[in-house]
Amino acid sequence: MFHASYRVGRVFGIPIKVHFTLLLVIPYLLAQLGRADLGVFWGLLTIVGLFTSVALHELGHSFVALHKGIRVRQILLLPIGGVAQLEAVSPRPKDELQIAIAGPIVSVLLFFTLVPIASIFWRLHLVPLATMAYILCIVNFFMAAFNLIPSFPMDGGRIFRAWLTPRVGKLRATYIASRIGKTLAVIFGILGLFYSFLWVLIALFVYFAAGAEYRMVQMEELSRRARYTPWFYSSARSPSDPREVDEEDVYVSPPPFER
Ligand code: ZN
Repeated sequence: MFHASYRVGRVFGIPIKVHFTLLLVIPYLLAQLGRADLGVFWGLLTIVGLFTSVALHELGHSFVALHKGIRVRQILLLPIGGVAQLEAVSPRPKDELQIAIAGPIVSVLLFFTLVPIASIFWRLHLVPLATMAYILCIVNFFMAAFNLIPSFPMDGGRIFRAWLTPRVGKLRATYIASRIGKTLAVIFGILGLFYSFLWVLIALFVYFAAGAEYRMVQMEELSRRARYTPWFYSSARSPSDPREVDEEDVYVSPPPFER
């Protein structure tokens, strides 16, 4: 039940699936969009646009991964975002950096494409279309900004670690990124107590994900031969031994709640 997802399309041969929980949050999203005075039809269309934006972000990661010869098993769309599930064989820090940064780049490009589109619709008095484009602008802007936070499980954490790894090693780089993530999560969580409970939930999630990523890399470093199935984010092995080829799944943010 909790793994139930439905395939909605296929791009570059990658199945794009929608998790059933996403369907459950549609009424909530519609209610939120109700504030923007969008009717049900435009509201639903905006929600489709929203998750298309998420899918395009994940396709950005996937496209670069495919170029690097890494297979992409699927893209899963969840209420909190999307996940590109890569079948990674020890990506080098440079590859990890390029794969991680591709998602936010797509979101930034979508933002800059949607700004003029929104203003054209607005000038043509196509109010629902303008509102929709405007909302998608904001969504893409925040998707880029949020994902660039230098912490796991966001793309920024991977970018930051990939940049730091050649300097201090993967374990130390992961440690620093996870400390930054935990510190930001605490600040965000405290602010959330005053502003929005949703922030508190996100903060808790980021806090534990940051810790989980570090523990996982720590385990990798401690016992390179040990095979284990991480319950969560699985990251790439550091390529200290190029012969060591080990198939693992890499999830590129935003993360899944389960697994
Ligand atoms: Zn991403």
